[in-house]
Amino acid sequence: MNTLYWFTRDLRLDDNTALLAASRSDMLLCVYVVDPRWFVPGPFQCMAMGTHRWRFLWQSLMALERSLRPLGQRLHIAFGEPERVIPELVHHHRISRVIRSRQPGTWEARQWRTIRDQLPDAVCQQFETLSLFTEGSLPMPLQDLPETFSQFRKQIENTGERYSERLRIRTLTALPPPPGFPDDNRGDCPPIPEPQHPALFTGGENPGLTRLRQFTFSNHDIDHYKDTRNALDDPDASSRLSPWLANGCISVREVAETITHYEKTETRNRSTYWLWFELLWREYFFWYALKHGANLFRRDGVQGKKHTATFYPHRFKAWCEGNTEFPLVNAAMNQLRATGYMSNRGRQLVASCLVYELGLDWRYGAAWFEQQLVDYDVASNYGNWQYLAGVGADPRGLRQFNLEKQAQQYDPDGEFVRRWRGQSDQPVGLHTVDAADWPL
Ligand SMILES: Cc1cc2nc3c(=O)[nH]c(=O)nc-3n(C[C@H](O)[C@H](O)[C@H](O)COP(=O)(O)OP(=O)(O)OC[C@H]3O[C@@H](n4cnc5c(N)ncnc54)[C@H](O)[C@@H]3O)c2cc1C
Repeated sequence: MNTLYWFTRDLRLDDNTALLAASRSDMLLCVYVVDPRWFVPGPFQCMAMGTHRWRFLWQSLMALERSLRPLGQRLHIAFGEPERVIPELVHHHRISRVIRSRQPGTWEARQWRTIRDQLPDAVCQQFETLSLFTEGSLPMPLQDLPETFSQFRKQIENTGERYSERLRIRTLTALPPPPGFPDDNRGDCPPIPEPQHPALFTGGENPGLTRLRQFTFSNHDIDHYKDTRNALDDPDASSRLSPWLANGCISVREVAETITHYEKTETRNRSTYWLWFELLWREYFFWYALKHGANLFRRDGVQGKKHTATFYPHRFKAWCEGNTEFPLVNAAMNQLRATGYMSNRGRQLVASCLVYELGLDWRYGAAWFEQQLVDYDVASNYGNWQYLAGVGADPRGLRQFNLEKQAQQYDPDGEFVRRWRGQSDQPVGLHTVDAADWPL
């Protein structure tokens, strides 16, 4: 049997059940497809792929290619629309099976359906490699996924399991050979600009594993995680594993396993538990996105709650460019544009500002994050935005933060605002015209 393995958000060899299944073939074509539509602005004025993530992704692809080589394989990187590229490769190489990891997101699901429809003679299979649990090992059917995180957490904790059993496939010393080494058109991919600011992250499985080890066994930062995780700009205050997790360079089960191992051999406390707790948030949003499908992207959210918001271009521009009346928000937005990263606290504050202070449709904010974040993850991003906007997995609703109080608490000396130039000389106010439409 000839198999095409379509790498997506699982850019690793370790703990990859989908690749393991694909390895049971006579010939194996390993493919990654760079979609040109990622680089074109969408309905919310933003591109799906900004430069930080693109750089990280490319590094991860190069690292993956290096890991595949000793196994007799290479990575075919195609620049084109997957709905066209995958069927063409299947026909050209007489492929009888296509495998990839199961992903949340309606766009991703539609692509998969379109490809399957074009390949009636091929077996198309998806495996769950991006989550702690598989759908079958969740303590509830997907359609009964609780509407709140706490209920989900309680049900998971009742099982006594932190993740589904992990498959170690590092021990594989070979993969089936590829059907020749056809040229790919990777040279057509957009160029990767040099970073303006020293890059915080390097893509690839090894840098991700190194970071995991650093945060746990080497530096023991995990011991204080619960107390430090809200810091706005401290590289060791939280794990900063999100870019590798979002691209699947490391397996979330590996992270959970490391936490458990750390607790057995080093320290077990409320901070070590809390790191797993945060992974469980990620898990919750993963299944939440699969359950709710297109409702994840609707203005009124999964709750169908009327969310009054409009679009003010000048307010959105000011928010994106760090030019609002809120120095803390500006600083965090400048940090995001410069580095592709923002702390969880920062994300909550800028989201609250966009929704409640600027009165904008939350989906514009989510789209900007999608373009900017190096760790962009469809389920975590849209799940968190809905939550903050009060139309998602939050029975309380209205998560408005008092930005002044937050500044006093998290940036009492104004160091963060200074470092990221949050004091704007000419901040853009809420209105640019008066009631008679005269410019203010
Ligand atoms: C508006 C908004 C948008 C967000 N968009 C994304 C996104 O696109 N991609 C993304 O990975 N995270 C997103 N998050 C969640 C969170 O902010 C980041 O995961 C976290 O800041 C990454 O830093 P870290 O790896 O140091 O996290 P840590 O605090 O060390 O947490 C460990 C891991 O747990 C997961 N995690 C932590 N917090 C959350 C959370 N609230 N929701 C889901 N998973 C979580 C992440 O995988 C993270 O790497 C968003 C949060 C908000 C409020």
